[in-house]
This record gives sequence, C-alpha cells and structure tokens, in this order.
Amino acid sequence: MSCEHKRTEFLMRRDGVDYLRCLECDQVFEAEDLEQVPIYEDEEEPRRKRAS
Ligand SMILES: [Zn+2]
Repeated sequence: MSCEHKRTEFLMRRDGVDYLRCLECDQVFEAEDLEQVPIYEDEEEPRRKRAS
C-alpha cells in the first residue's frame, strides 16, 4: 500500500493531459499529479566507490 509510483509508463494523452500508469500498482493518474513526486533516473547517479 506504499507504492511510490517510480516505475510508470505513458498511457495516453487526452485534452492536453498526459496519463501515466504505474507498472507496479497499476494505478492510473495524471502526469501533473506526478510532478509532486519527481523522478530521478539519470540525474545524480551515484558513482560506485572502489572498495579496494
Ligand atoms: Zn504505483
């Protein structure tokens, strides 16, 4: 019950509104709603430290 909707796919565009669907909980919501939960995928990718 604590899905953060980090994995979403584009569902459709209707009246200028993008709809996304969560791949994990199957919930559909507007892309605008998701703006509250920014998705960081490529940004701030942590560099792996060499543990030698
Ligand atoms: Zn979800």
